[in-house]
Amino acid sequence: MHIISQLCFITLLTLSVIIIYRRFKFINRNILLGKKNYSSNTDKKTRIKNLILIAFGQSKMFKKIVPAILHLMIYSGFIIINVEIIEIILDGILGTHRIFNVLGMPFYNVFISIIEFFVLLVIISCVIFLIRRNILNIKRFKSIELKGWPILDANLILIFEIILMIAILSMNASDLVLQDFESYKKTGNFYFSSVLKPLFINFDIQTLIYIERIAWWIHIIGIFLFAIYVTYSKHLHIFLGFPNIYHSNEENLGKINNMPSITNEIKDMLGEKVNETIPTPDRFGAKDITDLSWKNILESYSCSECGRCTAVCPPNITGKKLSPRKIMMDVRDRTDEIGINIDKKIKYDDRSLVGDYISKEEILACTSCNACVEECPLKINPLDIIIECRRYYALEESSLPSEWNAMLQNIETNYSPWKFPIDERSKWYKNED
Ligand code: SF4
Ligand code: SF4
Repeated sequence: MHIISQLCFITLLTLSVIIIYRRFKFINRNILLGKKNYSSNTDKKTRIKNLILIAFGQSKMFKKIVPAILHLMIYSGFIIINVEIIEIILDGILGTHRIFNVLGMPFYNVFISIIEFFVLLVIISCVIFLIRRNILNIKRFKSIELKGWPILDANLILIFEIILMIAILSMNASDLVLQDFESYKKTGNFYFSSVLKPLFINFDIQTLIYIERIAWWIHIIGIFLFAIYVTYSKHLHIFLGFPNIYHSNEENLGKINNMPSITNEIKDMLGEKVNETIPTPDRFGAKDITDLSWKNILESYSCSECGRCTAVCPPNITGKKLSPRKIMMDVRDRTDEIGINIDKKIKYDDRSLVGDYISKEEILACTSCNACVEECPLKINPLDIIIECRRYYALEESSLPSEWNAMLQNIETNYSPWKFPIDERSKWYKNED
């Protein structure tokens, strides 16, 4: 029986690792579909500081204290509970039972009790998050882009986590009752699951063994499914948030980078030395994800769909169609679509990011205020993508609104958005004729 169970475990573990590896390979290939023209100006010391404070420390989350604490409870639980998963995996492969205890780990019961404490924190946080999402009327969870799969995804993962946590407590409580029998190796008391002991006390030994084993299998199969599921869901940020924050840029938020090829053209017109290593691009701006940088695509896979960006976006607040969260979701969905096409060897699908996913109305509604960038706890920059899409409309399609064209014309000729000639620039604000 032990051997069959070990073989089943090793097969499930191997299958899960293969599926997760293939999924990460798919995502990595998709990210690299982006252009290589992104470089972060951030020095290594600042990147490591960002990694510690923003990624591990979640410092940007603390602008909103309640969700930050709940998120921290789940996050720390996720890390601490993983230590117990190491024990479960070793038990599954070697056919042992609580190997750390068998090997004589000191204070084993305290170690398990600490894990149980975090298990309780995770359950409490998940229940509160479910209430916040589904019962409380919080605007950022009601946006149109969350309809369907995104809201189901958010709920599923919370329910999933609650089931996994209940399985740990049931496994430990039934194990504690089993330890009251002579033949069982003692671990010492587990402080939190011991409260559940009365629920199991009346079962005979064989039933208790079944309960303990079923809870063990539910927990570990749940962990495998969870790990696979995460790679298909918004919870990918658990992993990709780290490289995304590490590679993020520390430039002043108001700064919009010039397009090197256009700078070259202007230098040429002014008779200045041009940089001949910069090629003229096939397309100005971004029509599809292959016109974006790899960092833009990494950001789309790192987005947690929290909606903090959308909640502070002035056009969204005033009822316009633009939502920076949707921009990130669209980039990720289109990237996935292109990735699947590549795997199916479909070369051309007659679709594009701009037009089929993101409308011109959304792109033009952005005020470039950077509020979304400032707000994002994962240092994601939706504005960068919006600017590239807008550049596409301006430079490739010449389809900006006529008022905008007049304004741009004025900037070119008068150095201001207004139609006044440059030598009369000071007159108009003094109200002189
Ligand atoms: S930069 Fe654009 S998308 Fe971001 S908050 Fe401002 S208006 Fe909204
Ligand atoms: S871009 Fe950032 S703030 Fe906006 S939904 Fe994604 S993770 Fe949240």
